[in-house]
Amino acid sequence: MATESTIEWLRPQRADGSLMPGHTGNLWWGCEEVHAGCRECYARKWANRHHKDKRLWDPERARRLVIKSIWDNLRSWQRAAQKAGEMHRVFGSMMDIYEKSMATVDWLDKDVYHEVEGVSVPLTTGFLRDRYLQTVVPATPNLWHLLLTKRPSNILKFSPPEWRTAPPQNVMFGTSISEPANLRLLDLLRAVPGRRFVSLEPQIAYIPELDLTGIDWLIVGGESGGLRRPFNPDWARRLRDISREQGVPFFMKQWDKVQPVPADLLIHEFPAYA
Ligand code: SF4
Repeated sequence: MATESTIEWLRPQRADGSLMPGHTGNLWWGCEEVHAGCRECYARKWANRHHKDKRLWDPERARRLVIKSIWDNLRSWQRAAQKAGEMHRVFGSMMDIYEKSMATVDWLDKDVYHEVEGVSVPLTTGFLRDRYLQTVVPATPNLWHLLLTKRPSNILKFSPPEWRTAPPQNVMFGTSISEPANLRLLDLLRAVPGRRFVSLEPQIAYIPELDLTGIDWLIVGGESGGLRRPFNPDWARRLRDISREQGVPFFMKQWDKVQPVPADLLIHEFPAYA
């Protein structure tokens, strides 16, 4: 079973000071860049560093199936969360779950097929997404699925039709923005019924005003890595103040993972599960 995630925003603190488990659950690896925030994509760099595969980010190439046990893992995580009487968060860190459907390959770069009604057909990421949203989400009431995408216009297109009127309680839809040019994604996210969060990370430019109407959580952070773009903590202070004014929980991730986060920005707020 995969280990617990170290991503801080998946792990709220319990009353006794310990951290709840959080999980990264990837159905596949690979994606395609969407906006300027993708330039130093952590997932792409990680896949390239550890598996020497830059092609997974090719717009026309297949995505890779990596962790065969993901479906078992999800069941195990549900059992553990239920036993603890908690909601444990799950997030796919190496993919964008609302990317268009793509073919898949295995570790040996071979096309992956599966049987549908006795016929062997290519296994697509769209099929995996459907299985996840249609069967895993309802079967895991103790997992809070944080569906983060830079493609919010695809959320309703690729989600089960009933989610338009009755979004599952254990799902939170998120989008990721980096600069004022991306703010239109918030309006697309707001068009999706359900609970919503915004990941403003990496923030690469000052955003003086932000309308958080309909947004339940704001995560902010600078970029890390050797080619990181500059981040100014005053940008985060402005967003912290906006969150306060609009009553939205605020989570500060990192400055650049080299310089420490200033004390007044050490804020790790989480939305309550409703
Ligand atoms: S959308 Fe996310 S996973 Fe895809 S390229 Fe951009 S940063 Fe990477």
